[in-house]
Amino acid sequence: MKAVQVTAPSTLEIANIPVPDANGQVLIKPNTVGVCGTDVKVFTGAIPVPYPRVLGHEMIGTVIEAPAGASVQPGDRVLVDPASSCGWCDLCRKGRPHLCRNAGLMGREIDGVFAEYVRAPVSAVLPVPASISATASGLLQVLGTCIHAQKSVNVFPGQVAAVIGLGVAGQIMVQLLAERGVTVVGITRSEWKRDLAAQHGATATAAPDQAVSVLAELTDGRGPDLVVEAVGYEKTLAQAIDLVGIGGEVLVFGTLTGGNEGLPYYQLYFKELTLYNPRAALPGDYAVGIDLAAAGRLVLEPIVTHELALDDAAKAFELVHDASSLKVLMHV
Ligand SMILES: [Zn+2]
Ligand SMILES: [Zn+2]
Repeated sequence: MKAVQVTAPSTLEIANIPVPDANGQVLIKPNTVGVCGTDVKVFTGAIPVPYPRVLGHEMIGTVIEAPAGASVQPGDRVLVDPASSCGWCDLCRKGRPHLCRNAGLMGREIDGVFAEYVRAPVSAVLPVPASISATASGLLQVLGTCIHAQKSVNVFPGQVAAVIGLGVAGQIMVQLLAERGVTVVGITRSEWKRDLAAQHGATATAAPDQAVSVLAELTDGRGPDLVVEAVGYEKTLAQAIDLVGIGGEVLVFGTLTGGNEGLPYYQLYFKELTLYNPRAALPGDYAVGIDLAAAGRLVLEPIVTHELALDDAAKAFELVHDASSLKVLMHV
């Protein structure tokens, strides 16, 4: 079968490798796969992996073979939870398998989903109804992580939230908050991303230098109850801490790996802020996302800007960080 492998840092190969044996698990043919920043980091070597490694962890596919009596059967359309957990470490036993000490991710610790066939345990496979379009289905994995993140925050209808960064996750965060009855302000430099958020969920949008005044107007100067950081820079986290109202919450969704400017530490204390740093997702979070998408309550298609063939993987990787792109999908 065809598979997209990384064979050395920044070296991709469309390889021909054997179809995996189902071996008591579910054999799936991926239909739509998503490319995300993690894949790019594995590709460039920023996240080291043993080579060669089949890339990818976001997929929707069709079941080819399943154990008798399994919850899915051949022909079913499914999403695969790409994370594995050991089941026996302290965090798994505390009901937090997404933080497992022996965790693995497809496309990183084990071979991934940019291939014509993929094997996954029955417990990792969730049914996806036909009412979700092929394009929208490519966002279900990211949607699950956004839902996992929003489960931690306490917002109520009528409250005000700001979302800094209107990339794939930021756009989804805006829509999920709007679904919760929250007044949402989307913040980014990119005009077309602001327009997209305004069409689907945001009550107002602002360029970063307008954010203070737009939020002050909507909150009588108090500041928003919640700010979601969906970029992943120290500067935007500092901005989130600056913007949020006293007693508010900051959801840190962008993955920060460092910074040397420092944060507004006194404000963390003075405002008695609560910060959340959610990671990954639980199978139940994906199920919630699938239900929301199937009910037609989210507008996911416009968040997909590029759909390519698996053979164009190199191009897809280039597009992920392009200013013209939001979600980049490949059809297998
Ligand atoms: Zn991803
Ligand atoms: Zn574990």
